[in-house]
Amino acid sequence: MTESIVSASYLFAGLLFILSIRGLASPETARRGNFFGFMGTMIAIAATLYSPVTNEYLWVFLAILLGAIVGIFSALKVKMTSLPQMIALLNGTGSLVSVLIALAEIRNGSIAYFELIMGLVIGAIAFTGSLVAFSKLQGLWFAKRRGFFMQKTVNLALILGMLFLGIAFYQTQNMNYFYALAGIALVFGITAVAPIGGADMPVVISLLNSYSGWALVFVGFSLSNVLLIIVGSMVGASGLILSYIMSKAMNRSLRNILLGGFGKRAVTSQQDDEEKYAKTGSPEDAAFIMKNASKVIIVPGYGMAVSQAQHIVESLSKLLEKNGVEVKFAIHPVAGRMPGHMNVLLAEANVPYEKVFELEEINREFSTADVAYVIGANDVTNPVAKTDSNSPIFGMPVLDVEKAKTVFFVKRSLNSGYSGVDNPLFYHENTSMLYGDAKKVTEQVVAALEKA
Ligand code: NDP
Repeated sequence: MTESIVSASYLFAGLLFILSIRGLASPETARRGNFFGFMGTMIAIAATLYSPVTNEYLWVFLAILLGAIVGIFSALKVKMTSLPQMIALLNGTGSLVSVLIALAEIRNGSIAYFELIMGLVIGAIAFTGSLVAFSKLQGLWFAKRRGFFMQKTVNLALILGMLFLGIAFYQTQNMNYFYALAGIALVFGITAVAPIGGADMPVVISLLNSYSGWALVFVGFSLSNVLLIIVGSMVGASGLILSYIMSKAMNRSLRNILLGGFGKRAVTSQQDDEEKYAKTGSPEDAAFIMKNASKVIIVPGYGMAVSQAQHIVESLSKLLEKNGVEVKFAIHPVAGRMPGHMNVLLAEANVPYEKVFELEEINREFSTADVAYVIGANDVTNPVAKTDSNSPIFGMPVLDVEKAKTVFFVKRSLNSGYSGVDNPLFYHENTSMLYGDAKKVTEQVVAALEKA
């Protein structure tokens, strides 16, 4: 009886998780999606406590309390621009759980060797890989180094080592092989992710997310736990789909990513010696030109998120529309620091969805736009991605902002963006730089528009 109640609850929780993902697919239904996820988690915890899996309730409640404190604190404290780091850490902890379960189960005499080996290996790789990804995204000094001596050979040796130890443990059940396997998988997580950097990190995070899901699936099979299998496959499959979509958006091959073979990140793009001059504009110029435009395309990027300029950008678009200007928003798939980053910010500022367009929908329209107002975006507009095959961002589709009659770049300097690649567009004759914090500059543009 207890067993069927627990199984039914797990299935119901699984259903709620599916509804949750469905809800999270669009900003309009995201709140509902989040609520379904919360309910699913609550039901899953209640069912697990009800099942005869443990009677050490004090430890369980202490762990839940500790997790809840860390979770609430991070949710309140972590800035939206640091969410990718947080996701990397969450991936890491989820994966560590799979590793610990695999170790505990083997020590408790489980005979699901294959499942536990797989759970252990994938979980351990995802755990240390996520920690390295976190350190890179956080800009920690020791994570900046990318390549290392004989990197490919070392990685191949580690893979072969894992294969050997996995088979040896399967055949002999000698625990020393199991511990050595865990150690090598932990090291491989580091050496596989260490060489990757720059614009490839989003794909890696999403791939590690997928790995953490597959680790759970294997652990779920070993425990015959339906919920772990359902949730693990959802995380595994959605992570893979997202990695595929992102790698396509950045024109990387997923095969290379799976093999951990990319990341040969060169230095910045080609340096030319000719003197370069970037024109400086003023907020008043920008207001005047945009007021007299018939079409303005706003291109938000990471800097808009940093300065929290989304609300003033929304006011700018409304004001322009009042003056009869057609305003559209162009979103690059990897603008900002996480998938959907710009969509979330614009939705928060109540920008209507029908004004927000994805890269492939809007790219043709830049040639008919009078102004591209690029606010805190850089890499996602860099034409080097189309022209310089030596550039680390070569092949990534970019927004063709240079085709607009006038391009305004709102940023604090001529510095490069996440990928570290110079953007030659700053020096184009139809570009004007509006230097300063994205929010402050846009406030000045709005003020000038209101006065005009
Ligand atoms: P970029 O990182 O290319 O550029 C952002 C620009 O914003 C910087 O050049 C910076 O210039 C400017 N900036 C920073 N703070 C401010 C501020 N307060 N006010 C005004 N400007 C500011 O961002 P993009 O959005 O164009 O591109 C995203 C990049 O991040 C891509 O390379 C992508 O691959 C990568 N990435 C994306 C992830 C995702 O999932 N979306 C995850 C991880 C990485 P300055 O210093 O001169 O102000």
